[in-house]
Amino acid sequence: MSEKIVFATNNAHKLEELREIAGSRLDILSLNDIDCHDDIPEDADTLRGNAIAKAMWVTERYGLACFADDTGLEVDALGGAPGVHSARYAPGKGHDSQANMRLLLENMKNVPSERRTARFRTVMALVYPGQEPECFEGVVEGSIADAPMGDGGFGYDPVFVPDGWNKSFGQASADEKNAISHRGRATAKLIVRLLG
Ligand code: IMP
Repeated sequence: MSEKIVFATNNAHKLEELREIAGSRLDILSLNDIDCHDDIPEDADTLRGNAIAKAMWVTERYGLACFADDTGLEVDALGGAPGVHSARYAPGKGHDSQANMRLLLENMKNVPSERRTARFRTVMALVYPGQEPECFEGVVEGSIADAPMGDGGFGYDPVFVPDGWNKSFGQASADEKNAISHRGRATAKLIVRLLG
């Protein structure tokens, strides 16, 4: 029987990505699946801090093994912004990917192509009841396009062109993206830890 483990998210895109990567080897439950409707705080100032806090929240309250991720887009010309603030980069309530991309492109409008380098970084934290958290990191290097390309994926995918590609993550299939993505790489490490 596959091991049950909670992924502390309700993001359908991420769950689908993770379930594709893990295949039948893990039974990945979402927060909805365990009836957790808490507003889990994400106010740490590092990706690692947020990932650990989310996983601990579930493990401590629900007694289940849990992993949680936090991802940031680090743009060199912006001093590493939006980074840990990627979800709420644009002002206003909630998470608006279109507004975030518009603000990013506006802030990058005078930056020449050779200085548009960036990376996605994911930190995954794994917590078993009564144990110390373990963290796994994945990074994909790339650059910020001048304008959105494609409408696949989510978040900043249409403006991120991985190194060696001539298209954005927003123009890639799920398989193409998972093979090199930040979350794919962090997840591969997590899966090695979980399944050996
Ligand atoms: P989170 O920590 O995964 O919730 O991600 C923080 C922010 O980064 C959100 O605005 C997401 O839309 C964005 N983000 C996370 N993963 C990806 C990705 O794979 N592609 C594009 N944007 C992402």
